[in-house]
Amino acid sequence: MKEADINWSALGFGYVPTDYNVRCYYRNGQWGEIEVSSSETIEMHIAATALHYGQECFEGLKAFRGKDGKVRVFRPIENAKRIQDSARGVKMAEITTEKFMEMMETVIRLNERFIPPYGSGASLYIRPLEIGMTARVGVKPADEYCFLMLVTPVGPYFKEGFKPTNICLTREYDRVAPKGTGRFKVGGNYAASLVAGEKAHELGYSAVLYLDPKEKKYLDECGPANFYAIKGNSYITPASESILPSITNDSLMQLARDFGMEVERRHVPVEEIPTFDEAAACGTAAVCSPVGEIHDLDTGDKWVIAKDGKPGPVTNRLYDTLNGIRLGEIEDTHNWNVVLDF
Ligand SMILES: *Cc1c(COP(=O)(O)O)cnc(C)c1O
Repeated sequence: MKEADINWSALGFGYVPTDYNVRCYYRNGQWGEIEVSSSETIEMHIAATALHYGQECFEGLKAFRGKDGKVRVFRPIENAKRIQDSARGVKMAEITTEKFMEMMETVIRLNERFIPPYGSGASLYIRPLEIGMTARVGVKPADEYCFLMLVTPVGPYFKEGFKPTNICLTREYDRVAPKGTGRFKVGGNYAASLVAGEKAHELGYSAVLYLDPKEKKYLDECGPANFYAIKGNSYITPASESILPSITNDSLMQLARDFGMEVERRHVPVEEIPTFDEAAACGTAAVCSPVGEIHDLDTGDKWVIAKDGKPGPVTNRLYDTLNGIRLGEIEDTHNWNVVLDF
């Protein structure tokens, strides 16, 4: 198989066409066979519930080519469980873990020539998606669902080096409701974050740090990424019903424990911000995205977290360790990787 003609180091986080995607349909109360497609479009009814009532959920995970030529996917079973949870959250049929894993392996193998080479910093991004297909005008869940997985090669997140960026907080916008869908990975949460997100970008911030939507007293998460802070020997991350349980954050908490740190998962009040030694957003895309300053757009408060303008030592160590495990360079003591032989 000929390697795809792609300048791996110039790749961003965009959509690059690949050869195949895989699909599976839920009809008559059961999931069918996995279908391989080379089409980049789907045919669906103009009244499908996904389009009108937001019945959709998705996942995002990455496959990496290691020095040993093997391909590693980081904790995919956690993504399978989470998309089952998200599907339940918006009343859709749940895919089985077995089917999820089979679809994932199939779509990676079929697109082998798009898996970036070791050392490029790039990876193969895997995007599972489930949508409600039944035509409905009245509000009611679909009977038929389409579960698909597409892949696309993506570049390294930090092109200009691993550097802190500034984030902002505001009480003007919420992305989710207190007992709403924040803990599910559904497109509707993203639609609800676009206005605030674009506003923040226009003002030069990389993200909005959302507050808890009920009291606006505690830190929640950074748009599409979780948030953590380091204080002394503690890794502190918000406990909240309205944030998405990030697999990266869960992994970083484990690594912090491995480093002998205390992990505190609790309410984190806004007033605690000035006591942070380090802070970062975390998620599959970046692993850790260190925070330089946090600006409160409502009060005008500005807190400098990264005092020398560089990522802190704990964030550096967490970032290097997690990346090393994903690439097979550091021993995977928690058996996080699913390893595919080619
Ligand atoms: C996907 C996502 C994250 C990050 O989760 P990971 O499993 O670490 O990639 C965080 N917050 C939200 C809202 C998300 O959708």
